Amino acid sequence: MQGPGRPSSAEVVLPRADGADLRGRTPEWKWQLAHAVRSSRELAEHLDLCDAERAGAERAERDGFPLAITPYYLSLIDRGDPSCPIRRQVVPHVAEREVTRGDLVDPLGEVAHEVAPDLVQRYPDRALVLATDRCAVYCRFCTRSRMVGGAGGTRTLEHLTPAFDWLAAHPEVRDVIVSGGDPLTLTTDRLVAVIARLRRVESVETIRLATRVPVVLPQRITAELLGALAPYHPLWVMTHFNHPKELTPLARQGLERLANAGFPVMNQSVLLRGVNDDAAVLAELFRGLVRCRARPYYLLQADPAKGTGHLRTPIATGVALMEQLWGRLSGIALPKLVVDTPGGFGKVPIGPDYVIARRPGVTRFRTPRGIEVEYFDPAPE
Ligand code: SF4
Repeated sequence: MQGPGRPSSAEVVLPRADGADLRGRTPEWKWQLAHAVRSSRELAEHLDLCDAERAGAERAERDGFPLAITPYYLSLIDRGDPSCPIRRQVVPHVAEREVTRGDLVDPLGEVAHEVAPDLVQRYPDRALVLATDRCAVYCRFCTRSRMVGGAGGTRTLEHLTPAFDWLAAHPEVRDVIVSGGDPLTLTTDRLVAVIARLRRVESVETIRLATRVPVVLPQRITAELLGALAPYHPLWVMTHFNHPKELTPLARQGLERLANAGFPVMNQSVLLRGVNDDAAVLAELFRGLVRCRARPYYLLQADPAKGTGHLRTPIATGVALMEQLWGRLSGIALPKLVVDTPGGFGKVPIGPDYVIARRPGVTRFRTPRGIEVEYFDPAPE
């Protein structure tokens, strides 16, 4: 299908390296943001909505978590299939109004862990800066649905100054994640200003950009952006591909540009019902990412954000999927399955248990080949 106005096929619209479109007008990524679908009426023009989607979109427009889909990402959606895995991620559904046991408005306890305005610290050596509440698309499973798309918009440098000051006073924090919202929706100048300010904090060693833009707005990965960020390395990109359909030629080009410009790219997929809760789908996704030099880092059990029960899977599903993938995919293609524990108390790894017996000095394992073997500890000194 076509997005509104401009040709939007993921296969053919390749931006120039400087980010301008083929006719040298507004950069394609800005055009995409300006023409994102944001209303139920527009959505119905592009997709054959089922009743549950129409009601969900109307609710999102009225008083819920807002709706936004870039024309590019919209072009990946199957117009007639409500079970399309791209569609399930971004088209609101009436089930979002249902509250499931354990649902939380703020699943990771970020408000409780806020140490300065829009600075969250949940681990001793890491902190999270929320530089904006705007995203290119609003993912229906978002853990920050309480705040993204809200009234605040881009955070000013003045607003973030207490966060920078707090980091300067806490040299134990060495790794800062710039997130939001999506930091790559900021203008290049604004993003660079935030990064430059963080780089002035001598104890900050690594800066990570947490972004879904390479997935939903790959036109943003321009030579202009990468050149502006290059002086601030080491900068890592934490991106968020959930389905192999998202690895379009344009998205692969964006990942290639990031890797060529020296950005280590790590991917965090969220395990989602009806999207990627299938071993073959995950294997194709993880292998595709590795081919693009993006490391599958985490497979995240979906956070219990309010109204996401219809998109989440039981813990046992992820464990069973890892059982199918372990030993069949290369280690560089296999992410860790983790649960970010409700309340913000940190991630814990989960997965199949390969230890079947322990006695003093001997551990017995089952292997992916189904063979049982023993490992003998060295003799005590
Ligand atoms: S891009 Fe990230 S922050 Fe924005 S809605 Fe999607 S998951 Fe949430």
